[in-house]
Amino acid sequence: MSRIYNFSPGPATLPEDLLKQAQAELLDWRGTGCSVMEMGHRTSEMIALTKEIENDLRELLTIPSHYHVLFLSAGASAQFAFIPMNLLRGKRTADYCLTGHWSQKAIYEARRYCDVNIATDSTDNLFTNIAPINEWRLNRDAAYVHYTPNETIAGLEFNYIPDTQGVPLVADMSSNILSQPLDVSKFGLIYACAQKNIGPAGMTIVIVRDDLVGQALPETPTLFDYAAQAKEGSMANTPPTLSWYFAGLMFKWLKQQGGLAAIATINQRKAAKLYAAIDQSSLYQNSVATAYRSIMNVPFVLKKPGLDEQFLQEARAAGLGYLKGHKLVGGMRASIYNSMPEAGVDALIEFMQRFEENN
Ligand SMILES: *Cc1c(COP(=O)(O)O)cnc(C)c1O
Repeated sequence: MSRIYNFSPGPATLPEDLLKQAQAELLDWRGTGCSVMEMGHRTSEMIALTKEIENDLRELLTIPSHYHVLFLSAGASAQFAFIPMNLLRGKRTADYCLTGHWSQKAIYEARRYCDVNIATDSTDNLFTNIAPINEWRLNRDAAYVHYTPNETIAGLEFNYIPDTQGVPLVADMSSNILSQPLDVSKFGLIYACAQKNIGPAGMTIVIVRDDLVGQALPETPTLFDYAAQAKEGSMANTPPTLSWYFAGLMFKWLKQQGGLAAIATINQRKAAKLYAAIDQSSLYQNSVATAYRSIMNVPFVLKKPGLDEQFLQEARAAGLGYLKGHKLVGGMRASIYNSMPEAGVDALIEFMQRFEENN
């Protein structure tokens, strides 16, 4: 059996070295005589692991000390509700940028808790473009501005951090966290689920400025209250310890690769060559505005009808898996997160060119 190049949008591919290390440590983790899955979360070994993953993440992203780092569960979608519950702080409105399907879902949840002001709306261009920020309708009284830096489904990614004039900026970085260096101090809160660019599903990272926590709505359950989780070291209940362990392996792997600057160079190169191959072909097409094309998720359609199934089958036979696009947009999507080796992108491009010549 051999591993394929796996272009799945999430849960997504992981580095082979990391999986081998997990395999080697499965029966006896760090000399404890048991696996990490079998350890109590309050043992000294697990507490040490928690410190280690927090420190490694702080180092990778140079997170300032006045930010809490929380490792929560329930996925990024749960944060769509936890964010208004925690961050409204007595205000009644929040600004949301509607640039894709994930921001749409975040808005749907937020409406249960506050008046949502849509600051910018990309619905008319089918989530392929972002209006210039000077055309946005930002509200100075908003509790926060929420946006989705990388829309995973349509492959639309901001190439800048919006300046929200002092209103806390909240970002759903589920599909592009750790893909490039980041100035965390520009944000009030950053959140990301693990299963795209970090590890297996089960854990969600929340990085939040400390002055924003502690004023959750009174009905907020303890587990969903950032202040309570910060106080308990993200252990207000049993955390998904196996996901924490994998995140720890990933953070070490990223450091070994040279950190986020080095990873970003490779990511840029992978995306640039794939988009170039699409643009140069007469069969494939990507309709996202060039400036906002995602570095992580590259959707494309085949302009000649009736070829999609054949494309997917032949790709799979060539060792290239899970390229089917999201059902909302159809076509194909190659998710090329940090863990996708450049050789995987090269193999995809070669296959696409061969397929075009034959069809
Ligand atoms: C995948 C994804 C989510 C949803 O994550 P869950 O952990 O399934 O809730 C939210 N936002 C973005 C941008 C995503 O890519």
